[in-house]
Amino acid sequence: MSLGHGRHYLSIPGPSVMPDRVLQAMHQAAPNIYEGALYETVEGMLPDLKRVARTNGEVALYICNGHGVWEAALTNALSRGDRILALNTGRFVALWADMAQKIGVEVDLLDFGKASPVDLDQVEAKLKADSQYHYRAILVAQTDTASSVRNDISALGALIKSTGHPALLMVDCMASLACDVFEMDAWGVDVMMAGSQKGLMTPPGLAFLYLNERGMEARERADLVTPYWDVRPRVKPDVFYEYFFGTAPTHHLFGLREALTMLLEEEGLEQVWARHAKLSQAVWAAFEAWSMGSAIRLNIKDRRYRSHSVTSISMEAPHGTELRKWTEQRAGVTLGLGIGMAQPDDPARHGYFRVAHMGHVNAHMTLGMLGVLDAGFKALKVPHGDGALEAASRILSEA
Ligand SMILES: *Cc1c(COP(=O)(O)O)cnc(C)c1O
Repeated sequence: MSLGHGRHYLSIPGPSVMPDRVLQAMHQAAPNIYEGALYETVEGMLPDLKRVARTNGEVALYICNGHGVWEAALTNALSRGDRILALNTGRFVALWADMAQKIGVEVDLLDFGKASPVDLDQVEAKLKADSQYHYRAILVAQTDTASSVRNDISALGALIKSTGHPALLMVDCMASLACDVFEMDAWGVDVMMAGSQKGLMTPPGLAFLYLNERGMEARERADLVTPYWDVRPRVKPDVFYEYFFGTAPTHHLFGLREALTMLLEEEGLEQVWARHAKLSQAVWAAFEAWSMGSAIRLNIKDRRYRSHSVTSISMEAPHGTELRKWTEQRAGVTLGLGIGMAQPDDPARHGYFRVAHMGHVNAHMTLGMLGVLDAGFKALKVPHGDGALEAASRILSEA
């Protein structure tokens, strides 16, 4: 028997749950794209997009997903033959770096494995050894969505500054913007990219490239950029049409406008961060209880380095895959699969899954998802510790 009829919960790390209000804002006839309200919508949204990233720098909008804006970030900042340092803590920066290599950038990849944050000592050693300042940029993700590690971007920015190295700090905030604390200007981030479909609660298809003054200076000498992806007209358009270099993504913009109002005007960005922090603590408390005397493991051991938007879990294969099937068919909860986590004894990653707690998620959704997992462990006879729901409930009861 399925108990999944009712509202389905897609608990995967993007696309995230879209608020009904975002969907309703999109449900309207196509607007005039040559003048009027649409112009005000876009121009009014730019300051809000900057507020979300805590920056006074520039922001460009692109009609694409995260991979598209990865390419925009690279091509607007770099030239053929430039050297960069890429800091991989799971999966995503390796993919971004691979793209850089394919367009003619020399990449030094520092890989910190599948369950650890960036080790700042290693970065410091690399930067100090680079006395000729060959590195043009350093690539990192705030949250790696595969490992669910959360890197300390503030500390990395401070380290780069302390070494005096001029490399640009380029950060992938795809899975963390509007979920986790992020201070672009205060932390010394030069280039940042993000997309619409995670913390910003809007359908996939819009992405954002942020650049500070150093980032915009880098654009002046970058020779990899092509006309469509050029950030310059997009941040300082002579005519409206240049914001998107063609037809604006009208309905995505309507949705995003509503999402920004919900995040900034109604809840408040710091409260959004605090909600994500609290919900993630409840998720961790549950998994810590389940892991007692069992093979269930949080992928990231140290709480300080756990993402506030996604949690990666390992268990004995094939229990991860079985559990995902069970929760979806029986209970109406879709979990994320374990990406980038293949091991020699588990090439198909059947021992992994991920839960998202990003975006439009509240206490009852989180407790509901955890309750379904508890039932799934029991139904599938997956060994698990006791008291997980009690532990999560206690966290949510506390101020
Ligand atoms: C989701 C994600 C991406 C890729 O985004 P797409 O829209 O799927 O291209 C890149 N980096 C991180 C950290 C992500 O979480």
